[in-house]
Amino acid sequence: MLTNDTLAKWDRETFFHPSTHLAQHARGEAPSRIVTGGEGCYITDRDGTKLLDAFAGLYCVNVGYGRREIAEAIAAQARELSYYHAYVGHGTEASITLAKMILDRAPAHMSKVYFGLGGSDANETNVKLVWYMNNILGRPEKKKIISRWRGYHGSGLVTGSLTGLELFHKKFDLPLPQVKHTEAPYYFRRADPAMTEAEFSAHCAARLEEMILAEGPETVAAFIGEPALGTGGLVPPPAGYWAAIEAVLAKYDVMLIADEVVTGFGRLGDMWGSEFYGMKPDIITIAKGLTSAYAPLSGSIVSERVWKVLEQGTDEFGAIGHGWTYSAHPIGAAAGVANLKLIDDLDLIGNLRRVAPVLQAGLREALGGHAHVGDIRGEGLLQAIEFVEDREARTFFDPARKVGPQVAAAMLRRGVIARAMPQGDIIGFAPPFSLTEDEAGRIVEATAGAVRDVLG
Ligand code: PLP
Repeated sequence: MLTNDTLAKWDRETFFHPSTHLAQHARGEAPSRIVTGGEGCYITDRDGTKLLDAFAGLYCVNVGYGRREIAEAIAAQARELSYYHAYVGHGTEASITLAKMILDRAPAHMSKVYFGLGGSDANETNVKLVWYMNNILGRPEKKKIISRWRGYHGSGLVTGSLTGLELFHKKFDLPLPQVKHTEAPYYFRRADPAMTEAEFSAHCAARLEEMILAEGPETVAAFIGEPALGTGGLVPPPAGYWAAIEAVLAKYDVMLIADEVVTGFGRLGDMWGSEFYGMKPDIITIAKGLTSAYAPLSGSIVSERVWKVLEQGTDEFGAIGHGWTYSAHPIGAAAGVANLKLIDDLDLIGNLRRVAPVLQAGLREALGGHAHVGDIRGEGLLQAIEFVEDREARTFFDPARKVGPQVAAAMLRRGVIARAMPQGDIIGFAPPFSLTEDEAGRIVEATAGAVRDVLG
């Protein structure tokens, strides 16, 4: 077996890590970890450290680590048929079954699933489908996509553009000109403290309408949003937000893409974030929870209205020129089938509904009165704490102080992984749905201790 020193050396010399400070990593200055195992809500590293993963990897290991049912389904599929493509009408039992299972769970107006590999490529597909549709419908100028500041939709060319976080644009010549960003539905950070949630929702909708009018409604094709903001800060929308936004979209015939990469398959306590907030999207993006990250797989679920136009397009212009070698990969599909079955068999969404309030109540009890805790928020197992310099004035720490990352680091020393979100001093919690009350208690204890360590 390789020693830790050898692996660490090879890692620095050969491995180009995503979302990493490359120079510090290569110099061996940045924290790193070689992960070797996972069971339930815990991961283990090569040094034998066991950590409670309160972020389920990248909020994707929804059923928890070490599920034999999924591992065996993957192994059986690999033995029987490791790969065949899905082009020109080919399929496998796993991919067809999974499409059926997804549609059985999806809102009634949804019609078909296109499979990809990750959330970014699924959103690339979505933008292409919207553009294709508007060409078929004879309105080739209607192509702009409106996203929100702090939205996260991936890190490709179009999807990195849709993402509304500075880090993903800076020095990459993004966003592309077809993408515009409107205000984030971030009530806690509203400019006017006197606004109620309903007023703030109306304000966000008015800003969107202003943007559509300024751009020209005939040029705006779609609006994309996560039902609850994820990577941009883990922020549920203010009351009435989606109804107000959808009214504006309907007025100008702008399609809605619900990016449910994080919220899909139960994270908020309902099967879909769209269901939770009463949204009626034209396209739903899925990834992460589709396989609980046991294998890479994503999807674009399109509504019947979208599907009809796509059919018309292929009748007029021939086969759709869009596909990946690994679309509907049978191993990913087998993982997806086993994963969705496990969620049902173990009633993991039911467990989430029971444990999520315990976690949030614990965080509130432990930290609700802390001078530097400004907000404790979330729905289901998508929760966050936001730190402030001054509670009354609602002022934030200088980002250079790295309060969020320091709290996350102090939590790690206490054996719990939480995520310091990339913009703002925000600690995120999105553990596996199988979290127990005891584990929720451990998360609360580690968070409270870490906040004391860093902020007194
Ligand atoms: N959309 C949302 C809402 C996400 O949270 C993510 C990833 O975190 C993506 C899209 C991109 O997915 P991927 O990293 O699989 O490309």
